[in-house]
Amino acid sequence: MHDDWVRHIEQELDGELSLPERAALARHLAGCRHCAEARVSHLEMRVAFARSAGQPHAHTVPRPAIRARTLALWMLISLVAGLSAGWFGHLRWGGPGPATIEATRALFVAQ
Ligand SMILES: [Zn+2]
Repeated sequence: MHDDWVRHIEQELDGELSLPERAALARHLAGCRHCAEARVSHLEMRVAFARSAGQPHAHTVPRPAIRARTLALWMLISLVAGLSAGWFGHLRWGGPGPATIEATRALFVAQ
């Protein structure tokens, strides 16, 4: 039930609600702390987005705040970084074979 109002909050902040819908939402927010808090955190999230886009005084969230291509590039970079870290670890410390683990344990016991 509150989820519907939270969706209305999103639409209101995007300027997509009609006046009667905004009135109904305002009426609900006046009596519902849960939804009023949700509206505050939605607004604060938008402020954070606007700041990170370099427009701290924007009236709406600058679009696109995060470009899809930049996101894909970063995902690719972190994937490659993860793979090469795994490959380096494999070269440096050997693979996770049972023989290696046994050898390591024997070494610890011997010391
Ligand atoms: Zn509510």
